Amino acid sequence: MSAPTTEHLPLPAVAPGNSRHLTVLRFGRPGARPKAYVQASLHADEIPGMLVAHHLRAGLEAAAAAGRLRGEVVLVPFANPIGLTQHVLAEHLGRYALESASNFNRHFPDLAPTAAERLAGRLGDDPVANVATVRAALAEALAATTADDEVQALRRTLLGLALDADIVLDLHCDLEAVLHLYLGTPLWPDAADLAADLGAEATLLARVSGGEPFDEAVGGPWWALADAFPDHPIPAACLAATVELRGVADVSDTLAATDAAGILRFLTRRGVLTGDPGPLPELRADATPLEGVEMLRAPVAGVLVHHRAPGEWVDAGDPVATIVDPGAARLGTSRTELLAGTSGRVYGRVAGRFVRPGTVVSKIAGATALAGRAAGALLPD
Ligand SMILES: [Zn+2]
Repeated sequence: MSAPTTEHLPLPAVAPGNSRHLTVLRFGRPGARPKAYVQASLHADEIPGMLVAHHLRAGLEAAAAAGRLRGEVVLVPFANPIGLTQHVLAEHLGRYALESASNFNRHFPDLAPTAAERLAGRLGDDPVANVATVRAALAEALAATTADDEVQALRRTLLGLALDADIVLDLHCDLEAVLHLYLGTPLWPDAADLAADLGAEATLLARVSGGEPFDEAVGGPWWALADAFPDHPIPAACLAATVELRGVADVSDTLAATDAAGILRFLTRRGVLTGDPGPLPELRADATPLEGVEMLRAPVAGVLVHHRAPGEWVDAGDPVATIVDPGAARLGTSRTELLAGTSGRVYGRVAGRFVRPGTVVSKIAGATALAGRAAGALLPD
């Protein structure tokens, strides 16, 4: 085994006697390429990623000991020490900062506009040279941002660790779900090997989801800048993905070891590690547009009865769930049926069994864009 270099990056103390830090594990020679960045549990109550990080660390230590590290791997095994402490009335609440209700995976700075200003006159005809120039401009743009509070400092620190990587994997999970990915549309089908190696059962594509999630903050500037400078070749040089590791309760050594092995196979396929990744597994599901996702919402309050499990296919019109009002005036009005509005795979569903109007009950990955699903507003808060 070959241990990584461990760093502790401090966050600003929120009160005297209270300070937190990020732990960063670094494998390989700093600056070696390709560079992969993996972080776990930015939404701090999404636990599967932290166990995958543990298994991934074991695999990376073994790879390092075997001399298989060609590139660099930066692993942040828990990306949100703030959210890890947020227990209220015995519940762990890790999606939003309690201080501000700010979603930890939104509001990352969009570096493209500042980088574009700095790139004027600096780009040429060589895409490889342009990648280096763009990376430098993005670093300058990040350096020009400020962080006024602990949450913003966390976002800024994470972005700084990932910004120059060739591959960025942000490990999340859904409530009850099959493994699925969020990717920038320009990354498909190049990233189909990631979906295949991880066994993703849905891959959702958007050029701009909206809300500035982490993966788009690192990946999105590449296609924004390519649009801004059409006369200069700028490739999508950062394969950034949000990896949804099934549901919140899908935490086991077996699953985590499988997922870590999938990531290591992908990193080998991409040359971060040397060796033979083996044949590419068959893709389980083609990518579909995030604009085609039906977020099936509860129209009324009541007890939720799911009829379709994550991974199942539904056709438009199929019953997906029933909401039961046990106190309805008449028995005949006590059951509200929810029907699929589109055909596709159910890839996630709510875990709680009591819902209120507006609760997203099920998510269906349809193949065609739906009315009311507009680019820039595709993710729930
Ligand atoms: Zn999440």
